[in-house]
Amino acid sequence: MIRTKLISANWKMNKTVLEAVTYINELKNLVKDVKDKEIVVCPPFTALFAVSAEIKSSKIILGAQNLYFEDKGAFTAEISAEMLKEIGCRYVIIGHSERRQIFNETDEMINKKVRQALKYGLVPILCVGEKIEQREAFDTEKVVNEQLTKDLNGVKGELVIAYEPVWAIGTGKNATAEQAEEVHIFIRGLLGKIFDKEVAAKTRIIYGGSVNPQNAKELMSIEDIDGALVGGASLDAKNFSKIIKY
Ligand code: PEP
Repeated sequence: MIRTKLISANWKMNKTVLEAVTYINELKNLVKDVKDKEIVVCPPFTALFAVSAEIKSSKIILGAQNLYFEDKGAFTAEISAEMLKEIGCRYVIIGHSERRQIFNETDEMINKKVRQALKYGLVPILCVGEKIEQREAFDTEKVVNEQLTKDLNGVKGELVIAYEPVWAIGTGKNATAEQAEEVHIFIRGLLGKIFDKEVAAKTRIIYGGSVNPQNAKELMSIEDIDGALVGGASLDAKNFSKIIKY
């Protein structure tokens, strides 16, 4: 099964509109010859409209970092799936560990968000991963199993899974290729049970956690690692392009 590698930038709460537009113009130029990968950028909400316009003449695809699970209404400060779709998003990150930890998102909420994204034709990039104490207690598979089983309850449609060990996010301490491979294979097996073997074989499972231009090649050369979700190292267009071209 050929799965096109997906390399996505997660800018988190970084970049003004002006900074975003400058970055995108630089990135467009740097990756204009890249044909074999899907390139996604996930700017903050305030920059989505401007970035959407800038990428029209390129192969860069737009993603958002979150959404709310209701269609519309009295939910001050929240953003709906329809709004993201209208603005040109194809992907949406759901269940990032920062959302789970800092903003107390539960698996029940994440499940609703995944369903809502799919209802509006958005492709969720669903993030799962264990904390350091859970890895040290050999509970990685148990944690990932519980997250995916709950988050994907009743879900049907194309999605991307991002394996993001919490201890590797923003720490400069990436999972080794072997550590990541082990969990990616476990996740694919789990998708086979939750959905079926065909869905498991075609679903992209990407890795996130301190990916940089130095470690991208080793991680991306593993068969079951179908791309990367990149935080810190995606904030500079040159750095991000090096990861894309690993
Ligand atoms: C992320 O936030 O999804 C991430 C992987 O961050 P970083 O690359 O900075 O570890």
